[in-house]
Amino acid sequence: MPRVAVVGGGIAGLSAADAIARARPDVEVVLLEGAGRVGGKLRRVQVAGAWVDVGAEAMLARRPEGVAAATEAGLEVIAPLTTSALLHSRGTNHALPARTVVGVPSDLAAVRASGVLSAAALARIEAEPAGGPYPPVTEDVSVGELVGRRFGEEVVDRLVDPLLGGVYAGRARELSLQAAVPALAARLATDGGSLLRAAAAVAGTPAPGPVFASVPGGLARLAEQLAGSGRFEVRTGTPVRELRRTPTGFELAVGSVPDGRQLSADAVVVAVPAGKAAVLLRELAPVAAAELGSIETASMAIVTLAFAGLPPDALPAGSGILVPAVEGLAVKGITFSSQKWPGVGAEGGVTLLRASLGRAGEADVLQREDAELVAVVRKELAGIAGLTAEPVDSHVQRWGGGLPQYAVGHRQRVARILADVQRVPGLAVCGASYSGVGIPACIASAHTATDRVLAALPPSGQ
Ligand SMILES: Cc1cc2nc3c(=O)[nH]c(=O)nc-3n(C[C@H](O)[C@H](O)[C@H](O)COP(=O)(O)OP(=O)(O)OC[C@H]3O[C@@H](n4cnc5c(N)ncnc54)[C@H](O)[C@@H]3O)c2cc1C
Repeated sequence: MPRVAVVGGGIAGLSAADAIARARPDVEVVLLEGAGRVGGKLRRVQVAGAWVDVGAEAMLARRPEGVAAATEAGLEVIAPLTTSALLHSRGTNHALPARTVVGVPSDLAAVRASGVLSAAALARIEAEPAGGPYPPVTEDVSVGELVGRRFGEEVVDRLVDPLLGGVYAGRARELSLQAAVPALAARLATDGGSLLRAAAAVAGTPAPGPVFASVPGGLARLAEQLAGSGRFEVRTGTPVRELRRTPTGFELAVGSVPDGRQLSADAVVVAVPAGKAAVLLRELAPVAAAELGSIETASMAIVTLAFAGLPPDALPAGSGILVPAVEGLAVKGITFSSQKWPGVGAEGGVTLLRASLGRAGEADVLQREDAELVAVVRKELAGIAGLTAEPVDSHVQRWGGGLPQYAVGHRQRVARILADVQRVPGLAVCGASYSGVGIPACIASAHTATDRVLAALPPSGQ
């Protein structure tokens, strides 16, 4: 029986293992996960008796892969209860302007109505279309640099940085336009012209239906469900230390050093974060390994608080609040989990919210004690959301190296990685380090890796 080894049990590895096992029931698929649990950045815990996600909590519903995976796994898909969110700027909460492209304004009236920007910043956005000519933007550039040049630094600091920070935990002035906002980059590369008009074309007419989705009990259930399908074998607590080529396939050194073992496989999917993939691919794909080793990451912490007996208006309405770095606070965003998703907190009769701390370059956040992080969040929560009540329970989740940073030139780097990996028959990579950090993008990358592995396996019945 041919064997495929999938290294890493995050959403990418689980999706690849599941897709390979579905396509080829005659193939033994073994998923090797270093940690004691599967899911990677998908994780849920109980806080005050109520289940809540402490990693990814919402998947984009405007791309098909996440919702399709949940439905195929037999899970109900739920929409958020509210679509409105706030932006905390100059000490005040404003409605998040509608129709931006990850913070890049496309609709001047909407940005003006939100009250986030000064009159001078608004005037500069308004003047931008007539300020050209703007040649096509063919070279990659940071989102912050482009937006700063066209609309001024205030738009970068107060709109683009917090929205991009919400997705990548990164800084607008470092993240690649081509990798982080590909639709806008493509438009500007072909047509050039005004950024305001390009953003308006990309924002288009909003598609009907909710932008985000989750599943009851937490998005992490998607990982649990995939791992529990029985279609493939899951070995947790089994780190892969080395990957070697043999005349007929691959050999993996698995398990920790004292009781390490070897596992042979006909094909291998490497679905671990960039730094770990760099170690595993050192011999097999040295160019890819070097490129993977230079992808930086941002670390963050998610602090979840549970409150009992809160009056219904204790928190501002909406799904949460984004906080720009220029506000000088530690908290970069708060999700009002019980207001955002149906049923969150219901089991414990509590109101749950989660605060996110840590942007690229702020790894020191992870060194603080849990109690200190909870205290910081409580203090800032009072200023940001006016909530001073005492929580009945809390949970701190640290995500060291949680999100890869797509620096300027990332797409070209990924092309070099994939070209090197593709020189090795039967080897594939997938996950958040390549073409999108969101759950649907990770699943899509797993499906591409699956196609590669399936093409390398001997046909069924041989
Ligand atoms: C705090 C946070 C919030 C987020 N929120 C959202 C959100 O709301 N929506 C969204 O779409 N995305 C969100 N993301 C991004 C998204 O969750 C991740 O990009 C995605 O889950 C990554 O999946 P992955 O499979 O590529 O990697 P991971 O989830 O990192 O999985 C990799 C796995 O490989 C294992 N591993 C590592 N080395 C080895 C080894 N040598 N041998 C065996 N196993 C190994 C790890 O233990 C891990 O389980 C968030 C990310 C973070 C950190």
